[in-house]
Amino acid sequence: MMSQTEIDRLRLLPVPAGQLFIGGTFGAAASGETLVSISPIDGTVLTQIAAGSAHDVDLAVTAARRSFDAGHWSRAAPAFRKKVMFRIAELIEKHALELAVLGVRDNGTEIAMAIKAEPGSAAGTFRYYAEAIDKINGEIAPTAPGILGLISREPVGVVAAIVPWNFPLMIGAWKVAPALAAGNSVVLKPAEGASLSLLRLAAICAEAGLPEGVLNVVTGYGTAVGAALGLHMDVDVIAFTGSGGVGRKLLEYSARSNLKRCYLELGGKSPNVVFADAPDLEVAAKTSAMGIFRNSGQVCVAGSRLIVEDSIHDAFVARVAAIAAGMRVGDPLNLTTEAGAISSAEQMRKDLGYIDVAVQEGGQLETGGAQILQETGGFYVQPTVISGIQPHMRLAREEVFGPVLGVMRFHTEEEAIRLANGTDYGLAAAVWTANLGRAHRMVGAIKAGLVHVNTYGGSDNTVPLGGMRQSGNGHDKSLHAIDKYTDLKSAWIQL
Ligand code: NAD
Repeated sequence: MMSQTEIDRLRLLPVPAGQLFIGGTFGAAASGETLVSISPIDGTVLTQIAAGSAHDVDLAVTAARRSFDAGHWSRAAPAFRKKVMFRIAELIEKHALELAVLGVRDNGTEIAMAIKAEPGSAAGTFRYYAEAIDKINGEIAPTAPGILGLISREPVGVVAAIVPWNFPLMIGAWKVAPALAAGNSVVLKPAEGASLSLLRLAAICAEAGLPEGVLNVVTGYGTAVGAALGLHMDVDVIAFTGSGGVGRKLLEYSARSNLKRCYLELGGKSPNVVFADAPDLEVAAKTSAMGIFRNSGQVCVAGSRLIVEDSIHDAFVARVAAIAAGMRVGDPLNLTTEAGAISSAEQMRKDLGYIDVAVQEGGQLETGGAQILQETGGFYVQPTVISGIQPHMRLAREEVFGPVLGVMRFHTEEEAIRLANGTDYGLAAAVWTANLGRAHRMVGAIKAGLVHVNTYGGSDNTVPLGGMRQSGNGHDKSLHAIDKYTDLKSAWIQL
């Protein structure tokens, strides 16, 4: 039940200290060390979380390997694996509001969005991959008579999933669910600033009957836990979502250890291209504003570069700025809030720094630009629109990961394509046009893993999400994700 009264009750519950989950048991880090979880809503200490070390990672990888070799999950009948994963989905739904409120207290996403994007999406993802378990067949190769060529996929073994703070449950499920469906054991490393809902997920998986050691969660600093997973000789695959800088490190760790496969879902600087012939400019303006400002811009696919045709530029930008200025920013646990808190004080300073640089470099502030609600003790930034952005400026090239929209102007379709592709990234994009031919040309010409047409955001488990260029290589979602967590095996049989 999603009522303000229930949310207000849940927000006051004490948050127990976060512990590691290894081999089916919750416990402290071996060193006893902890890190502090600060709530971005009001800047207060929410709880302490175990700060794992390389030693804890080793224990978790050993537990994962032992469970994989024992075969209670990896070689279990598909019907059993399906049943457990459906049960996980049911339990996530049963505890949806509790999970969402806990997550919001940790990372500041507005609750109206969090309830759908976090437990809602995670439950759907577990269900989607549960359904896939007994529907993916192997192949028989068209060999010459007398030979039987079998092609199958088998689980890789131990998967390490390293996830960011913006949508921990959703992104965690995108990795954990297909990895489990394929029969692997998993070590999950949440972000420092968003561990709590994933620890709750571990308890839910145990309650659903997932055998011990199949899912382990090691919380702590990236430089300790994440690096130890990256360097571990017995981790077979890294599934990562986060920044490009850490993605680069993971490739190095792999090269320095066992050449484990690394799937990297990295950032973006996604273009949102609006042509004058868009079917409905009011819908385009509203959707464009939501495409950058929901979750205060802390969305990997956020449409952070608005690229507008010259003839409608001024009116369209004025409309987007008016929508931004009218957004309800504030307490993320209020159901009417449209943009919640920035996840940390450090991220807020980064956002404000990018705004200053954009203005210094010649951008015009159309709306926003400042920190607000300081009296709450939390971290809030106004939805900000800056026009006059040129391709060389930092706001045109670097990911802010905050509520900051840079606006560029174009005259021709060719120029729009050049601007859209003018970054190192290639995660998402959108095109607004009623011209079908142009829509198809733009989808083909824009280097991005996901191109929306006449909408922004919103997709489901049936389509992959992943990047091109420096946005990475590892698509989450859809049946393609199963490939990441399986090895291809051929058998050549002389009959
Ligand atoms: P981050 O790269 O700082 O951290 C991501 C994870 O990596 C965290 O769990 C962190 O603890 C861990 N980590 C940090 N240092 C590490 C190291 N040296 N070795 C191993 N692991 C380490 O990213 P973030 O700030 O949590 O999230 C924001 C970034 O994530 C943005 O760039 C955003 O675009 C990206 N992101 C991408 C997608 C996508 O689907 N492509 C989705 C969400 C977020």
